[in-house]
Amino acid sequence: MVPTRPALAQLLISSASDSEGMADDLGEQSAEDEKRGPDPDPVELGVELLSKLEHPELTVAEAVDRIETVTTHPATTRKILDEAEKRGYIEREEGIIKTTGGGYVSYQSEVVTKEGDFSCRRCGASISTGYFIKLDAGEHGAFGPECIRKVTGRD
Ligand SMILES: [Zn+2]
Repeated sequence: MVPTRPALAQLLISSASDSEGMADDLGEQSAEDEKRGPDPDPVELGVELLSKLEHPELTVAEAVDRIETVTTHPATTRKILDEAEKRGYIEREEGIIKTTGGGYVSYQSEVVTKEGDFSCRRCGASISTGYFIKLDAGEHGAFGPECIRKVTGRD
């Protein structure tokens, strides 16, 4: 087959789209950076949350109940538990999670309230006063007055 003008044009178009492809790659990179952007990393939030539980022992279900306020994604939940164990915040034993203690959430300094229209991250109730836990990874909330006690491990 003899290359015709349209074929050459095709060639030019495809090389043009090749360089566009490179630009797309760069675009994807910055999109990933954005994903890590202002929203706190759910794994960091979850690990910190587990590190601050007041109960010395929890069932896995109770721990997952807390983690579910951060993520309902099973893979992320597993990652949070793995990471918390790796960092020594928890020990897992036959369905029981033992917290190794450390930083309990201090109500005075680490729980903040805000007025506004929130829905509780744990039960979904509409609340006008939202309770937020201040974690290094970011603020975690909002929660209603009862759920904040659950999440901090007070109840
Ligand atoms: Zn609630």
